[in-house]
Amino acid sequence: MNTRTVEPTRFAAIQGASWTIGSLILFSVVFLTAAGCSGETDAKPAGMQDKKFPVMKSAQEWKEILGEDRYRVMRLHGTERAFSGEYHDYKKKGIYVCAACGKELFSSSTKYDSGTGWPSFYEPIDDESVGESRDESYGMVRTEVHCARCGGHLGHVFPDGPEPTGLRYCINSISLMFEPAR
Ligand SMILES: [Zn+2]
Repeated sequence: MNTRTVEPTRFAAIQGASWTIGSLILFSVVFLTAAGCSGETDAKPAGMQDKKFPVMKSAQEWKEILGEDRYRVMRLHGTERAFSGEYHDYKKKGIYVCAACGKELFSSSTKYDSGTGWPSFYEPIDDESVGESRDESYGMVRTEVHCARCGGHLGHVFPDGPEPTGLRYCINSISLMFEPAR
C-alpha cells in the first residue's frame, strides 16, 4: 500500500461521511415532522423497528381494534398519567392479559404496591410472555417491555423492585385486561 492510493480513498471516505450525516439530518427532520403532524406513524423505539411478532397488523388496523387512547400507549409507546389507570391499586386475584391480543402476561401473585401510580409486578407470568427493547427516548436509557405475541407496548422494567427478582415491571393499566381467578 502506498500513500498515493490511500489519500484519494480517504478523501472519498470523508466526502461520503458528510453526505451520509447530511442525509441522516434531513431524514430525521422529515420523519419527525411527519410523525409529529399526522400521528399516523406506528412509532417505535429504535430497538423495536425490525422486530417481528406472531401477530402483526397495520397502524390503521390497530387503531380500529384498540381505540385512540389504547393505540397511543400500545402502538405509539405513550404513557398513561400516574394514578389514572384502572389497575394501579387493584388487588383482586387473577391474570393480567395483553389488552390487544389476550396473551397472559402477569399474575396478581407477583403484583405489589410500588407507590408509583402504575401497576407494578416483580416478574412476568413466564419467560416467553414479555419481550424487551432498549429505549433511549427523552434522554434516558430504559428497558422497554412489550407483549411477545403482538409487540404491544406495556411499559418499562427497572432494577429497583422487591425480592425475589429485584425487578419492577412498571406497566400501563390501559395495556392490560384483568381476568379474575376461577
Ligand atoms: Zn399482545
